[in-house]
Amino acid sequence: SAKEFFQSILETPSPSGYEQPVQDIVRSYVGDFADQITTDLHGNVIACCNPDAPLRVMFAGHADQIGLLVTYINDQGFIYTNTIGGWDPQQLIGQRMTIYTSDGPVPAVIARKPIHLLDQDERKQVVKTKDMWLDIGAKDKEEAAEAVHIGDPVTLELGYQEMRNGLANSPGMDDKTGLWVCMEALRRAKDRGLNVALYAVATVQEEIGLRGATTSAYGVNPQVGIAVDVTHATDCPTIDKNQEGDIKLGGGPVVYRGPNM
Ligand SMILES: [Zn+2]
Repeated sequence: SAKEFFQSILETPSPSGYEQPVQDIVRSYVGDFADQITTDLHGNVIACCNPDAPLRVMFAGHADQIGLLVTYINDQGFIYTNTIGGWDPQQLIGQRMTIYTSDGPVPAVIARKPIHLLDQDERKQVVKTKDMWLDIGAKDKEEAAEAVHIGDPVTLELGYQEMRNGLANSPGMDDKTGLWVCMEALRRAKDRGLNVALYAVATVQEEIGLRGATTSAYGVNPQVGIAVDVTHATDCPTIDKNQEGDIKLGGGPVVYRGPNM
């Protein structure tokens, strides 16, 4: 079902550059209704209905999510990383993570010097990723290096959690919600009959510079393109509507006019 598709893309890792597992799920789901499915050299999955119509409309949602990349294992077996995409480092403190290795996923936790041991100056500082490390429970470098390799990608521990009022939370909602909307829009539009060629594209590498949307747009060459991504609701504490506008969760999509955002 459409909901199972949504949940399965959320529970499948896709740090930028490592989108293949999610793209496999997209290909298999759209296979039930798309007239044409292609994967370009970059890894974008392009599903199309009514491909012979002269007017081409493209919906793009990115398949990738932010993550980390293993860069160093120290003598004690602690693991250091660089970021994939833009993180707020504060959000990483204490998180459960998963490292994706050639032998499968390895669970980890992000640690830093505990607040009890921070001096007055350190407490005032914003934590940086270089002050945090991943702990997989290894007893030394040798054990850690056997399980994990330099270059292995990392995400938050994935998991879909339903809340009240039909709401849910999960890592990677940015932008698996947008990806889902694009594919679901294609499915529903086909049901109602199409007079354009409609392309729904699961793009790669958005979080590191909107790359897949650019390459796939050259491939599809649409006359009309709509990018679908998340935005910030303003009906919650600490946000100034004077600056950010009046955006209600559940109030429908936010539409930017033309290219102006
Ligand atoms: Zn996004």
